Amino acid sequence: MARKFSFKGGIHPPHSKKKTEHLTIEQFPAPQKVIVPLSQHIGAPAKPLVKKGDRVLAGQLIAESSGFVSAVVHSSISGTVQSVGPFPHPCGKKVISIEIENDGLNEMAVFSPLLNWRDAAQGELVQKIQAAGIVGMGGASFPTHVKLSPPSNKTIDTLIINGAECEPYLTADHRLMLERTEQLLTGILILKKILSAQKCFIGIEENKLDAIQAVTPLLKDQKYREIKFARLKVKYPQGGEKQLINAITGREVPSGGLPMDAGCVVQNIGTAVAVCDAVIHGVPLFERVVTVCGPVVKHPKNYLVRIGTPLRLLLEATETDLSAAKKVIMGGPMMGTTQSDLDAPVIKSTSGILVLDSVQPGVREHPCINCGHCVHACPVHLIPSRLAKFVEKENMEEAVEWNIMDCMECGSCTFVCPSKINLVHFIRLGKFRVQAMRAAKAPGK
Ligand code: SF4
Ligand code: SF4
Repeated sequence: MARKFSFKGGIHPPHSKKKTEHLTIEQFPAPQKVIVPLSQHIGAPAKPLVKKGDRVLAGQLIAESSGFVSAVVHSSISGTVQSVGPFPHPCGKKVISIEIENDGLNEMAVFSPLLNWRDAAQGELVQKIQAAGIVGMGGASFPTHVKLSPPSNKTIDTLIINGAECEPYLTADHRLMLERTEQLLTGILILKKILSAQKCFIGIEENKLDAIQAVTPLLKDQKYREIKFARLKVKYPQGGEKQLINAITGREVPSGGLPMDAGCVVQNIGTAVAVCDAVIHGVPLFERVVTVCGPVVKHPKNYLVRIGTPLRLLLEATETDLSAAKKVIMGGPMMGTTQSDLDAPVIKSTSGILVLDSVQPGVREHPCINCGHCVHACPVHLIPSRLAKFVEKENMEEAVEWNIMDCMECGSCTFVCPSKINLVHFIRLGKFRVQAMRAAKAPGK
């Protein structure tokens, strides 16, 4: 029996993937209008390069990055720029975006392929990825070129590809592993070459048997032999960077540290496929796979969607019963963000749209009974019950001492709490307060 990799802590929520895991990715029609935000990534927003009245092509650069930690933005359709201004964004606020009216021609920009990527210098490969506007597509949306440019004092020896997709309902990565297997593996080899990583793993949760059966035979091929398969136990949050690193290498990312502090870089499945498209074909990131699912979605789907497509259109196409919907979430139910405006668009980090017909209970339903379940569930070894109490009492110094800032907001503690205390709500609030305190104390304030 092959070894199964895992980490300490975690939970087993229902997978709820049955409705979409076998559904082939379908191209979602390009909409009449897209709203392409300038901020779809962690870091500085991009700066627009177009203005009202300009004609643009699908895949054309329309906004440049405004710093190293920033990502360029491309048009996802051909058409005419209607405006550049504030529009609804999945973060819940209005964000400067480029509104483009579709001309129905689907005219593509000219892309520059790089067929001999093995002969290219590492810097040239990173430049192609940066020019394609690629960001982490698993939800974190950190610009990929930054992750691939570690400081010179950090040695990366291991690349890990996250095929866990441990959030319930989401199946976008699962389908990519099945339907774009060769592109995925090529993308991984490109990433490995850039990092000069000696070791490279693709970790897949063992419940995705067909994905394992699609990927592993190819790893015997001479071309892909450098990539090793790691069978992951089914557990949430198996796809967390620190949990994956620990499960596969046995290393711990230090408190407050990054994967590179453990000699690792973790990339997501969708990101690796996008890297292949960008480097080999020169195609920038202007569409992505989105799972649309949930109890009131009549026809769940895995769609390939143009960035900037309003969420409302996806829900209409799937005949979602919005009158029965209590909550719309972008991402999965554990770490996704609640959506209040269905005119907000799909962005580069949108892995799924989930529509639920019930909501979580209130913030504190019953007193804590000191059962310790939250402590056992926490994948980063925190004491969630204690942290929540510190936050309630506004004792932020103690909360910091007990490592509140290491919380990855996975929601496992809330999930297991028999008293139905929304622990992650308190901890998120506490982290926000600590950040505000630190910002107030920063030089120049
Ligand atoms: S939300 Fe934070 S405190 Fe709760 S289990 Fe996850 S990492 Fe631990
Ligand atoms: S799981 Fe809930 S009831 Fe149990 S110790 Fe943690 S906060 Fe208290």
